[in-house]
Amino acid sequence: MEREHLIKPVLDHPYPTVQYGKGVFLYDDQGKAYLDGASGAVTAGIGHGVPEIIEAMTEQASKVSFVYRSQFTSEPAEKLAKKLSDLEPGGDYWAFFVNSGSEATETAMKIAIQHWQEKGRFGKNKVISRRMSYHGITMGALSMSGHVLRRRRFIPLLEDFPVVAPPYCYRCPFKLNAASCKLACADDLETAIKRIGAEHIAAFIAEPIVGAAGGAIVPPEGYYKRIKEICDRHEILFIADEVMTGIARTGEMFGMQHDGVEPDLIALGKGLSAGYTPMAATLVKDHVMAPILQGSKSIMAGHTYSANPQSAAVSLAVLDYIEKHQLAQAAQSRGVYLMAKLRQLADGIEIIGDVRGRGLLLGIEFVRNRDDKEMFPPAAGITARIIDKAFHKGLLVYPAAGAVDGAGDAIIVAPPLVITEAEIDLLVLLLEEAVREVMDELARESAGGGKDGEI
Ligand code: PMP
Repeated sequence: MEREHLIKPVLDHPYPTVQYGKGVFLYDDQGKAYLDGASGAVTAGIGHGVPEIIEAMTEQASKVSFVYRSQFTSEPAEKLAKKLSDLEPGGDYWAFFVNSGSEATETAMKIAIQHWQEKGRFGKNKVISRRMSYHGITMGALSMSGHVLRRRRFIPLLEDFPVVAPPYCYRCPFKLNAASCKLACADDLETAIKRIGAEHIAAFIAEPIVGAAGGAIVPPEGYYKRIKEICDRHEILFIADEVMTGIARTGEMFGMQHDGVEPDLIALGKGLSAGYTPMAATLVKDHVMAPILQGSKSIMAGHTYSANPQSAAVSLAVLDYIEKHQLAQAAQSRGVYLMAKLRQLADGIEIIGDVRGRGLLLGIEFVRNRDDKEMFPPAAGITARIIDKAFHKGLLVYPAAGAVDGAGDAIIVAPPLVITEAEIDLLVLLLEEAVREVMDELARESAGGGKDGEI
């Protein structure tokens, strides 16, 4: 056999070769169709093969694709920065463009640290994050991520940044009840700040809805208001990692709008260019920039491809498309429809413990027993089996971290915002088939003494 050269995520796994995409479907080189039930990694928000984006891309390419940001600015980058600021209700943000979500959160961390340095407060250089969080794969972003599986190998090399409790009501870390908990998970931030000392902390970072490390976990009402109030009181900047929630996915342009909170910094990626080009951004509020403008007048971050005119032109076209087709509203209404369908499905399927999320960022958590929320043993590989089964049926869904560090076994369902109700029906049908087949397998294995004697 010919040797391979491309390093794929799992080296001994056979991956189909994609040929093209159209709307909510991807097609491989055998002509098989896949319904993109999670927009890739919650990225292809406007669907595949949209002609307007391809036009914007070629138009910009015919002018200039690349300039170095230390030598030129460009019209698309300037326009995109203003557009993003205008979209945010607070409206007074600057933008720093990078290429990936990891770079966007890491840049946010660097700007937060620099902000305090410019004010002469050199000790404020730690970032607090939460358990069950994911902010990216670069060493800085991983240092402030509570995603155990992705951290594990690198722990000795990572910054020893503190983590606090996640707002995970389905499996409350304090074993409290959402109706009477008084937001103990938010107060855990204050406890940590007091223990570490606010003079050592630059920022707190959190995803509006926990994505890859939890499976679309929506915090309880009032959580972010309390978080922001704690941050402000202790002079700690609040970074919202909107890489997954950003740009219309949750039914608003920004996920944090549902909570009525204006973050000091915002990280964007994924949906910002809907996967058409690499593009991500760190948005920085005026008051965070102020000491930098008065001080060193430059931010110590950036990459060769930062503020790339080609990617900026594509992102502008994506934002125009989202506005023109009212895709934030579509995410809201189709999200309600999909949620209702999934809840209906859950009624008849004992191993669905929880269906949650907001807009078209939904999560399903699987349990062995719904009454006591008992998890499947790790050897059952429950989410991997369901995802694999769905894949073979032509449905793509996205795995959450799964059953480590207090998290349950969850998947994310987050189709492109352009999905129709008929396509949602097909998605749910394929998912139901996949889940039922896995349940049948489990029952057979159990009757036969179990795959490993555990199931
Ligand atoms: N933050 C969040 C919330 C994410 O979901 C991700 C990617 N899953 C990242 C950061 C990292 O983005 P990227 O993979 O583009 O580096």
